[in-house]
Amino acid sequence: MRLVTADWVLPISGPPMRRGAVLVDGERIARVGPAIELEREAVSVERSDFDGCALMPGLVNAHTHLALTAFGGLLGPDEFTAWLGRLAGGIRALQPSDIEASARLGAARSLACGVTTVGDIAYGAVSMRAAEGLGLGGVFFWEVLGLRASELDAYLEDAGFPHPGATPPDATPGISPHAVYSSGPELIRAARRVADERAVPFCMHVAESQAEDDLVHRGEGPLRRLATRLADDFVTPHSSTVAYLDRLGVLDHAIAVHGVRLDAEDIATLARRHTAVVLCPRSNDFLKVGVAPMDQLEEAGVALALGTDSAASNEDLDLFEEARALMRLHSGLTAASVLALVTSGGAGVLGLDDDRGRLEQGLRADLAAVRIGPTERPEEALVETAGTSAVEAVMSGGEWRIRHGSAALDTGAIEREASSVREKALLALERAGEDSGR
Ligand SMILES: [Zn+2]
Repeated sequence: MRLVTADWVLPISGPPMRRGAVLVDGERIARVGPAIELEREAVSVERSDFDGCALMPGLVNAHTHLALTAFGGLLGPDEFTAWLGRLAGGIRALQPSDIEASARLGAARSLACGVTTVGDIAYGAVSMRAAEGLGLGGVFFWEVLGLRASELDAYLEDAGFPHPGATPPDATPGISPHAVYSSGPELIRAARRVADERAVPFCMHVAESQAEDDLVHRGEGPLRRLATRLADDFVTPHSSTVAYLDRLGVLDHAIAVHGVRLDAEDIATLARRHTAVVLCPRSNDFLKVGVAPMDQLEEAGVALALGTDSAASNEDLDLFEEARALMRLHSGLTAASVLALVTSGGAGVLGLDDDRGRLEQGLRADLAAVRIGPTERPEEALVETAGTSAVEAVMSGGEWRIRHGSAALDTGAIEREASSVREKALLALERAGEDSGR
């Protein structure tokens, strides 16, 4: 048994608790309560005291591409289609072992900022393996694009899509057709069928950019060529992306990422279909695609979560920074509601809320101890100042993964390994730039 105490404990399901404690038994939370009570009951346990800190559930980053972390800082803010083209060129220059090192870097940086659960999209099992090795859990979506529907089963087999019961204990597989411009209608439908048959989550990038709007409404714009190449049965639906996906019958309990370009009818459809939306405010800003209508989505009862998206379209993978960006855009948000979004909200959207996202008896012992200093308002202190440098310790499944001043996780070695991948990616991007400039 382990007893973890802190100045404040934020269970998320209830109000902050001064001088609180969490008792951990194996990989589960045994009790949450006032430190003075738990100390009396739990004698001869291993103790960790975090003075000046808030103890909260491990954060849930509901949309990442950990395998793209090595591209962080290499692709400046850009127009969406140009960015996508440059990124694809960079990815092609990397070997599978490079992608793996990049995913490990993403997993390490996620843990370092208090994230213990991700909703990650990757080509194959690369992120799942990297995350599992470091103690990061979540839903790992197999990305599907540029295939015919008839090729899907063979692709999933080839890309190591796990057979039922064959996933690591803390990972759930999922399926994600990339977007309407890279997956044709029959492929999207087939992916949805596989998700239903195997009872796994289904996720897509939805209504992200003006370019996507131009394609679905009028069959034109910069994504037209890509759609012709990757989705050969794509026929201009002359409607919004959401209306199109609804006609394909794939939105029920799906996860829609971005959801920037939504009108009132789209929002009503998402609510009716119980489609959840993952907001990615900093990625949207990076790619200049606009701001998702969060208030209207919330009002319609659409379940929401927050994600950083990949390091290729963001400053970093720090979910506290993402939360601050969201608060700057939506002045009505309270600190408590944003903290719920990055914990229980994310867990709910990923279908993991009976297992994590709150500090409650029986849930997975995923904890983050974050330095906030002396304060009477721990929630505000967290959303105003927290970030990677303030994270003192992170536990997932009852094990310490990050521990200030100890080598629970050798982030330095992972950073060094990924730096050569970064150089390779940079070289590929420069070469592609020269080619297109000719
Ligand atoms: Zn994405």
